[in-house]
Amino acid sequence: MSVGIKGDDIMDYSPAVKKILAKEKIEVGNRLSVEKGGKISEGVLMPNTGDPNVLVVKLDNGYNVGLTPEGIKIKKLAQPKRVLPKKMKYERDESKKTILILHTGGTIASRIDYETGAVNTSITPEDLIASVPELAAIANIRAEIVFQMFSEDLEPDHWMLLAKKIAQDYERYDGIIVTHGTDTIHYTSAALSFMLQNIPKPVILVGSQRSSDRGSSDAAMNLLCAAQFIVNSNFAGVAVCMHANMDDDYCYVHSGLHVRKMHTSRRDSFRSIDVMPIAKVSTSGTVEMSEYKKPSGEFKPLIAFEKKVALVKVHPGFNHRELESYGKIGYRGIVLEGTGLGHAPINAVDKLTKHHALLLSVIKKMTKKGIIAMTSQCLYGKVGMNVYSTGRVLQEAGVIPVQMTPEAAFVKLGWVLGQTKNLEVAKNLMVENIMGEQIERIDPKAFLF
Ligand code: GLU
Repeated sequence: MSVGIKGDDIMDYSPAVKKILAKEKIEVGNRLSVEKGGKISEGVLMPNTGDPNVLVVKLDNGYNVGLTPEGIKIKKLAQPKRVLPKKMKYERDESKKTILILHTGGTIASRIDYETGAVNTSITPEDLIASVPELAAIANIRAEIVFQMFSEDLEPDHWMLLAKKIAQDYERYDGIIVTHGTDTIHYTSAALSFMLQNIPKPVILVGSQRSSDRGSSDAAMNLLCAAQFIVNSNFAGVAVCMHANMDDDYCYVHSGLHVRKMHTSRRDSFRSIDVMPIAKVSTSGTVEMSEYKKPSGEFKPLIAFEKKVALVKVHPGFNHRELESYGKIGYRGIVLEGTGLGHAPINAVDKLTKHHALLLSVIKKMTKKGIIAMTSQCLYGKVGMNVYSTGRVLQEAGVIPVQMTPEAAFVKLGWVLGQTKNLEVAKNLMVENIMGEQIERIDPKAFLF
């Protein structure tokens, strides 16, 4: 949620900047045009947050620019009227499939606050559907707000509430779209994949990197592609649908277990790791599926999660106390993001590395009471703990190698420990390839695809 910032905050700007602003009666949150070096830009005046001599303007494409006052010409522009979209009238078309859109928040459910230039999670489902009217031509659309928050604030408890909601409602729809912030969409997609195994309908998570009211927004295209995928494919299960490239021509549908956000801001940030995307979809409804086998098992929601699980990155200088502290506060599982093939500094080779022996003994102690699983911070490629002695010794100490992204492994470990209190059963489940989460054969084409 943004904090309202009024005109007083101009005090934060330097006297030179304030003078220019005062002359034009411009306050924070006002629209203005700025001319500098022959280039004219339009946007919203932002509060000063850094150098007081730099004027910060949020451009209409969503980016902020910083401008020094020399040679600058500014002009106040009329504030845009907030046109609230008309409420949708739902007229059911029996010839069309029906999709439920569940909103959880994030940029896709946001708009720019013209007071502050910041982005708020404030859009209603009606706003969103009204801003993408083409959706109604694809399917009958129903929409509900489940949460209204940025995805960095989502807790495993939210995943469980969302999974319960989907398990309760899925039979009434041909598919479900979950709108979600992009930061943690891949955690939620992994959680829903484990909790809703064998769900016989498509559950497609969709985010956007730019809010729906910006010209450069990817929200509409991602939503339209997700709806087309639901209507035109035989897919069942959990997946993420996002822009495939920087052009607005098609989206990829990624497996909910193998997808990852790989860039902070690009519209094509999402990539399938070590596998190819499930499908390529266009807004007009062309669907190119890659090899896909529809799951045939019985749908049984398994909605539980142990929250005392951590995701810990190994690094040079890693100290045994970092790991030990989790044991001390009762954590039952740790996913290590190891170096290379799945390593951690456990070799005491000189005076400086003497403490590495302590890390090994902490690991041995912790694997007697809980689970330590190993992934790789390389992200791509298999964890190979039989190649070097370090990997072998770690395995002898009880570390379990898993072939997943660190995030999917973290979610799996929390889910596994939520299913059983029996440590041996949980360890076996971690090794088991329950639903294709452990990549057995890496597709070489998938590297940096
Ligand atoms: N950090 C926010 C979130 O993940 C906004 C980012 C986005 O949705 O792209 O919800």
